[in-house]
This record gives sequence, C-alpha cells and structure tokens, in this order.
Amino acid sequence: SPAEEKVKWAVHIEVRLQQRVTMRFDTIRKIVESYLHSSFDRISLPSVLEGWDEIPELASTVEKISASESSCPQRSPPLDETLLEIHVYQPSDSESFEDFNAGGDDADDTNAATVCDLPNRHWEGLWDSLIYADDIKMRLLDYIHATLLLSDAEVDLNLISWNRVVLLHGPPGTGKTSLCRALAQKLSIRLSHRYSQARLLEINSHSLFSKWFSESGKLVQRLFNNITELVDEDDSFLVVLIDEVESLTAARAGAMAGTEPSDGLRVVNALLTQLDKLKHRKNVLIMSTSNLVQAIDSAFVDRADIVQYIDLPPREAVYDIMRTSLCEMVDKGIVLPIAVPTLNEAKMLELSAGASTAVSHTDPRQREKTVGLKLLALATICKQQNLSGRALRRLPVLALARYISTGSISAPGGKRRGVAVEVWLEGME
Ligand code: ADP
Repeated sequence: SPAEEKVKWAVHIEVRLQQRVTMRFDTIRKIVESYLHSSFDRISLPSVLEGWDEIPELASTVEKISASESSCPQRSPPLDETLLEIHVYQPSDSESFEDFNAGGDDADDTNAATVCDLPNRHWEGLWDSLIYADDIKMRLLDYIHATLLLSDAEVDLNLISWNRVVLLHGPPGTGKTSLCRALAQKLSIRLSHRYSQARLLEINSHSLFSKWFSESGKLVQRLFNNITELVDEDDSFLVVLIDEVESLTAARAGAMAGTEPSDGLRVVNALLTQLDKLKHRKNVLIMSTSNLVQAIDSAFVDRADIVQYIDLPPREAVYDIMRTSLCEMVDKGIVLPIAVPTLNEAKMLELSAGASTAVSHTDPRQREKTVGLKLLALATICKQQNLSGRALRRLPVLALARYISTGSISAPGGKRRGVAVEVWLEGME
C-alpha cells in the first residue's frame, strides 16, 4: 500500500555539458541514468562522479557529473532507494552582462541593474566555496525549490500565500550576495527541465537611490517594465536580486521624517507596488540582502516569506574556509604538497591530543596532524576576532604576501618552488 512505501530521498545529479553540444539533453539524461545504474550501487553525497568518460557519448558531451549534497540521512544511500533527479545543463559563458543604465543624457556609470543568463560559468563553484553551519545552504535551496514547485502547481493564492520574496540579512562580508547568486545558479540548474531559459537580474539599490533622486521614479518604472518583459515569457525563469535593500527603504523612512524630498516616498511605494504585481507570476523569485534588518522598511520585511539571518562563521566553518583556501594553494603549487586533515579528523586529533600528551614524533603523519591542530587553533583565534568570511578569504593572500620577496613564489612560467605549509601557517598566525 502507499503508506507502506518507503520514503525515497531525492538525489540531485548535476551534469554539466561542454560548449557546443548538439545532442539532445534528454538523450544525454537517459545515457547518464543508465551509466549511474550500471556503475554504482550506492552514491556518496556530495561527490564528483568518475568513469563516465568511458562512454563515448558522454565523453564527447559532458564536462562534469556531480552528486549534490542532500538532506538524505544516509551519506551514501543505495541508488535504488533514492529518487534520482538528473539535471543536464550547459552554463552560459557570456561574461558581458547586459546593463540597464540610468538612462538620461549623460554617460554616467550609474547602472540601475545588470542581467546575466543562468546557469552561468561565472558562478560555477561559488556554491561549494560558501561554508555555513547547520546546513543553511541546503535548507534554503530545498525550501525555495519546493515552494517554486508548489506555485507551479497553481495553488490558489488566496488559500496558500507565497510572495516569492527571500531576505538574507546579517553582518557585512558573510556571503549574503554570493549566496543569492549561488542559489540562483542552483535553482536554474534544478529547474532547467521546466524552464528553457533563466536569468539573474541584479538591482543596484545604491545607484538607484543615491543619485538623481528625482529620476529614480522613472528608473524604477523602466526597470520594472524590463522585468515584466522578461517574465512575460512563460518559458523563462527570472531571479531578481536586490542588494542592500535597506538603502532603498531608508529613502522612505527619510521621506516620512521629512528629511528627504517626498519623491523618495513615491519611489519606494512604486517599487513595493511593482513587487506586489510580481507576486502573481510563478516564474519569478526575488532575493534581497541587507546588513541592517532594523533599517528595512517593515512593509518590505512583511512581504518576505523567508527571512534568514546569516551570521559570522563559527569556528568549524572558519576551519573549513581556511582549509579550502590552503588546499587550493597546494593544488596550484603555491604551497608544497600536504594532506590537510578534514574538520572531523582535526577534531579527533584535538580530542586525542588532550587525552595523551605523549605524541610520537617518528609518526610520518605527525606533520599533517600538526597542521590540523594548528589550523584549529587559528580558527579559534579568528573566531575570537569575529572575522567575516570575506576577511578570511583574504587572509591567505596577506599571509603569502610576506614571503613573495623571498623568491618562493615566482611569476607564471618561472620555476616555482612553493613554500612549506609551516611557512604559510606562520604567516597566517
Ligand atoms: P555580503 O553580501 O554578506 O557582504 P559577499 O557575498 O559580498 O558578502 O561576500 C564576499 C566574499 O566573502 C564571498 O565572495 C566569499 O569569497 C567570502 N565569504 C563570505 N562568507 C563566506 C562563507 N561563509 N564561506 C566562504 N566564503 C565566504
């Protein structure tokens, strides 16, 4: 009976294609499906899959196949107990983002918004580079994905209401803007079978409101005319990213307090009205970020279905951010080869180091252990200093810059020796 049927967890397989592939995506999907069933009993999540290049049709079309992380409780579930969702996509490599500029007569660089095609090669890898605690990325992605599917089912908006507005807020440099882009990219991959085209439109709130205040009203109008045009195509999906949304709503607060011209009020009202109109479109998602949620107009916060606080990274996330930076430098030959312990390995080391003070120095793995413990100690210091993700991603550069004059790092093409990991760690400290 249906009640006895086992719950199957969805496993998302992402198949990235090479440029200029002429084979039908559907055909490729079927080949991938049979490759998965013939090559794996279990599939570990997340992982990059291998062996597909032995199949000629895949070797000539595919660039990468990966299994995404999943909320499935098993780390490597048996394939036949999962619901395989295979997403075949070809990222656009158009780097030239189309601009909507402020219009008017002068060639001012006030771009009200930029648009790019999704999925985009530019945002590949961004998702994996962002590290948070508590599966926050996954929960957001699954939640938004689910709600998009729900609205696609044409539920009555009077009974189930969903504005398609997401708000991420928290301290600066915690990756909110990047997370929005990464989410947009992931969603476009997951929805690729549903929509033939997806786009990301980024609204630059600052330039929309800082200058030419009296022009802003017209600008909002033009912007939304463009947005409406984009969502009028039923077959295309649009993500609108409104960065630093507080600068937009501060305009209204200022207007109320009488410090700004009443134009500000009109502009913000126009924007909110336009957002409300989008509510009835199922092929649009609005994502916004803010560094100060208190400063956002309550009328905007009320419209958001998901209000998610993004905090500074905890010690565990700091470890992983530094670990991934270090691994990248080892990978590129800037730091000499070393296997950097994973977070769990390092934590185990920490526990056992506390229990037995006698460590064997003859152990060949001693060096790696020391690196793990040192990184953990660094993570503790960084956490105490409340460093943001942005500051942490910058730190390795500063650490190495101190040694650049020693000749350990040389220009591309030059004979590179690389530095020992200990040197890097010292620089980091
Ligand atoms: P915000 O919008 O919150 O100010 P950004 O999205 O501009 O932050 O983040 C800037 C950069 O900082 C990101 O591109 C990323 O390299 C790094 N970063 C921030 N938070 C994290 C994180 N949690 N994990 C990994 N990198 C991060």
